[in-house]
Order: sequence, then C-alpha cells, then structure tokens
Amino acid sequence: MATLIDGKKVRDHNLEIMKGEVAELNAQGVYPCLCVIIVGSDPASRVYVNNKKKACENIGIVSREYAMPEETTTEELLSLIDELNADKSVSGILCQMPVPKHIDSKAVLERIDPAKDVDCFHPYNVGKLVQGDNVMLPCTPAGMVEMLDYMGVEISGKHCVIIGRSDIVGKPMALLMLQRNATVTICHSRTANLSEVCSQADILVAAVGRPNFVTADMVKDGAIILDVGINRMEDGKLCGDVNFAECEPKASMITPVPGGVGPMTITMLMRNTITAEKVAKNIK
Ligand code: NAD
Repeated sequence: MATLIDGKKVRDHNLEIMKGEVAELNAQGVYPCLCVIIVGSDPASRVYVNNKKKACENIGIVSREYAMPEETTTEELLSLIDELNADKSVSGILCQMPVPKHIDSKAVLERIDPAKDVDCFHPYNVGKLVQGDNVMLPCTPAGMVEMLDYMGVEISGKHCVIIGRSDIVGKPMALLMLQRNATVTICHSRTANLSEVCSQADILVAAVGRPNFVTADMVKDGAIILDVGINRMEDGKLCGDVNFAECEPKASMITPVPGGVGPMTITMLMRNTITAEKVAKNIK
C-alpha cells in the first residue's frame, strides 16, 4: 500500500512557518501585499481568487482585489498593471487567467514587473528558470517539489517522467526536477509508447487534464505518483488524472485528488509574495 502524500498537511506546515515570517516582517514595518486582478465573472476564477484572498488573510499578507468588468480593454488592464508596478506598497501582482478572449493575455503577462511576477509567467522569469537562478518559482511545480522534500524523497538521480508539456505545469516541472538533478522525460499527446515510457519512472507526474488517464500498466512498482489533474465529473466530484484505485497498490507514494497537489499551488503563491517583498526591501 502506498503512503499518501497529504497536500493539506504540507500546506499547513508551510503556512505556519510563513505566518511567523510575516509577523516578523510586520514588526519591522514591512507588509507583504498581493494584488489580484480578476476580469469578468467566470465562476471558477471567482473561486480561485477568493481562495487566494483567504490564504493571504490566514497568514497576514495584505490582499487587494481589483475586479474589472467583462468589457475591460487590454489598454485599461495594462494601465492598472502600470499603476501597481509603480506602487511601492505592492509586493506581487497576479492577473487571474483566463481573461476574456478580446484581451491580449500575452501582453498582460509581459507587462507585470518581473520582480512582482509571483506566478513566474513573465518571459524574463521563465528565462531565469531555464538558467536555474530564479528567486520565485512557478507555483504548481514548486508545490510538488516541496511535497517531495517534505516526504524526504531523494530526487537526485531519479528518473522523473512528466506527462504534459504545458507552460504552467509540465515544462516548468521538468526544469525544476532537472535543477534537482533528476533525469527527466517529458511526454505529451504525440509521445510514442507512452505506457512503456511512463512505466520506467521513479517519479511520475500526471498533468494531462483527463480523468483516470494513468492506469496501472503505466506505473513501475514502487513509483512515486504526483497527480496534478483537476477534472470535474458529471456528479460534481473532482477526479485526478490518475486512476487511483488501480495505481495506488503499485506505488510507494501517491497524491490524492482532491487534497494533494491542489492545496500546494496557493501555498507557493504566498511564499513568492513574501519573497518578492523581501527582495524589494533587501531583507535576507
Ligand atoms: P494543458 O491542457 O495545458 O496541457 C495538457 C498536456 O497534456 C498537454 O501538454 C498535452 O500534450 C498532454 N496530453 C494531452 N493528451 C495526451 C495524451 N493522450 N497523452 C499524453 N499527453 C497528453 O493542461 P495544464 O494546464 O498543464 O493542466 C493539466 C491538468 O492539471 C488539468 O486537469 C488542470 O486542471 C490541472 N492543474 C492543476 C493545478 C493545481 O493547482 N493542482 C494547476 C494547474 C493545472
């Protein structure tokens, strides 16, 4: 039977440490502040933004929300970002994606000052990530590395197979694992012999967006499985990309969905906001 990697437990452990750090910063008159911009009224985005606000409040980070109407233009959004970039009381800026289709999302991500880019989506920060010298790390992949560290997993020398090559999960996860001296394979929709490749993984990361995509034949005995997938089923329940019932007996460790990788993403966003403020104020 596999050991369950409990994302809520790892989150709570990290948040407790950050609460102390924020209190110490506050005592020095330093107030980490996260600005979240939401455009339009997408219900899922609203839930994500509320969760980010709650996490900030929980650990004492100042949270500011900028809710803009659906018909906001790219120029209007860019001018708000300019204002926040110039505001010294702002540590981090995040624009909740997706924005309405008429908005140029690339221009938006590129306008955020890299020093305040707590999502690590700016091309400058992506470049730094490739070079291995980022100060802020992309949240979902960084959350997975944090989980592995919490569980005492030695990453160096392991073969990590990642299914999915998205800019927010698959690619940055590959870079982080490479930084930690794993041997990395990225699989995607055109990968030949997917099952065979996956079954060689010591650490298998599933970021596909398809329920129960990873089956027992794709899992090596004793593998560690990280399931990034969040799929909403017809009955309203959440389901990961991994067929948990089939794969769990073969794995040595596995993340559940929900309660696995999900809670770590916001946790790392909090970490980046504190880091951004410390760097801005030259605090070690
Ligand atoms: P995406 O749609 O951008 O990328 C999916 C990837 O899967 C693509 O690179 C594609 O090549 C690959 N893929 C698709 N079909 C495949 C197949 N048959 N075989 C092999 N590879 C295939 O998705 P994403 O943004 O990376 O998100 C993936 C999943 O993770 C989604 O369920 C998403 O909701 C979830 N997610 C969770 C978090 C979190 O905080 N836990 C964060 C981001 C994304």
